[in-house]
Amino acid sequence: MTRIAIVGGGISGLAAAFAIEEQRRSSGAKLDYVLYEASPRMGGVLRTELIDGCLVEAGPDSFVTEKPWAADLCRAVGLGDQLIGSNDADRKTYILVRGRLVVMPDGLMFMVPTKILPTGLSPLFSWKTKLRMTQELFHPPRSADHDESVAAFVERHYGTEMVDRLADPLLSGVYGGEAANLSVRAVLPRFAEMEREHGSLGRAMLAARKKMAGSRKTAPPLFTSLKNGMQSLAETIVARLNPSSLQTDTTVHAVHPEAEGWTVSAGLESDQFDAVIIALPAQAAAGVLHPAAPELAAELAAVQYSSSITVGLGYDFDVRQSLPPGFGFLVPRSEKRQLLAATFVHNKFPHRAPDDRALLRCFFASQNAENVWSRSDDHIVGIVRNELQQILGLHAEPLFARVYRWKSAMAQYGVGHLERLERIDRLREKLPGLALAGNGYRGIGVPDCVRSGRGAAALLMKSPAVLRS
Ligand SMILES: Cc1cc2nc3c(=O)[nH]c(=O)nc-3n(C[C@H](O)[C@H](O)[C@H](O)COP(=O)(O)OP(=O)(O)OC[C@H]3O[C@@H](n4cnc5c(N)ncnc54)[C@H](O)[C@@H]3O)c2cc1C
Repeated sequence: MTRIAIVGGGISGLAAAFAIEEQRRSSGAKLDYVLYEASPRMGGVLRTELIDGCLVEAGPDSFVTEKPWAADLCRAVGLGDQLIGSNDADRKTYILVRGRLVVMPDGLMFMVPTKILPTGLSPLFSWKTKLRMTQELFHPPRSADHDESVAAFVERHYGTEMVDRLADPLLSGVYGGEAANLSVRAVLPRFAEMEREHGSLGRAMLAARKKMAGSRKTAPPLFTSLKNGMQSLAETIVARLNPSSLQTDTTVHAVHPEAEGWTVSAGLESDQFDAVIIALPAQAAAGVLHPAAPELAAELAAVQYSSSITVGLGYDFDVRQSLPPGFGFLVPRSEKRQLLAATFVHNKFPHRAPDDRALLRCFFASQNAENVWSRSDDHIVGIVRNELQQILGLHAEPLFARVYRWKSAMAQYGVGHLERLERIDRLREKLPGLALAGNGYRGIGVPDCVRSGRGAAALLMKSPAVLRS
């Protein structure tokens, strides 16, 4: 019997466990696995609550449709008919500029303008930035020999205002981090590639749009989610796994390579396995690997993480009617607020709130989250309400408010991240039967985590450590 341990019951670990379970069932292979989860529940940051008829997402609320791995997993576990798309016909995002909400102009692909008129007329950018956008079309191809920050990259193309008003707020919503600290090669690889090939991002995007228009396909919704919330994915996977393989409330302290496999130590117990998947945030992975592989642990510990807080607020019909149309707003750091973003959830997805309710999801991260971390939930809700009052003129008392804190849950891919991954891979290869999965490596979003979990399982099932047993 081949035994595989999986450490961490977030979506990365669950995806790995499901891949092993599928293999066990389809091939009849003599495979056994144990999934260790420190907390009482599986799912990690995937958590959904139903409050007053509203589906409140504490962690991720959806995933980008363009990356297929999460939707594929939903279909594989039988949730295909539960997949829902964002209401893109109502898509509109605002940016707070000097205290006022300004709508993002049509045709912006991330921060790259592809439609001249809406961008030219938009009050989001100064004339100086608009001039830079025109000049950018003549940017020569450039093959950089080193990584740089997203802020430096965007500034070279469009200037500092674009960093402040778009690149930084857009990335804060995804990574909870600052454009000045994130690696362009790791976070925006397509843009780095476009610069290498075309020089101008504007021209590259226009060429890509033209190609897509030729194919006449209707664009799929930008975001995908599940009718009953993201937690339903974790719950459904758990229901497909072998119940005796699941160990909640069990913190793994260390994993050790032995002559013939691995020892996993959890609490006062140790167990033997042929292989181990560590599906933890990289810094937590460093903790369990440190005694056995200090050099690898040091590289893992160097992947930075930020903490974040989401606040779900429910309101009545009057508020729903008074809110602006669209998906919500982003707040540039230069506005000096605590909030980084707010989503009008009732507009973004169907099935999230009854017709007579408004559901808002507010987001703090990084330093803004640290600033309020130790304060009470009431205090944090007070800050949110105060800012919503100033930004939206929203005075109404919420029907409910929930605060969710996520300590060091979002990876920050710093400059040089891809080189660090190469070092991590080399060090990991020296430890046969070890695989890593999670958001610290090649993508922080749910689809990337699913891919990493399934990839880790596939790697081990082909490894000599597993095949020989
Ligand atoms: C607030 C927030 C909003 C997000 N929004 C989106 C979004 O809208 N779309 C999107 O695609 N992505 C989003 N993300 C990112 C994405 O959700 C995460 O990157 C992904 O879910 C991480 O999954 P994971 O399994 O790698 O890690 P986690 O979910 O962190 O799971 C790790 C698990 O390991 C357990 N654990 C830790 N240490 C040990 C140990 N020693 N022994 C045993 N178990 C241990 C933990 O208890 C936890 O359950 C968001 C993230 C956050 C925090």
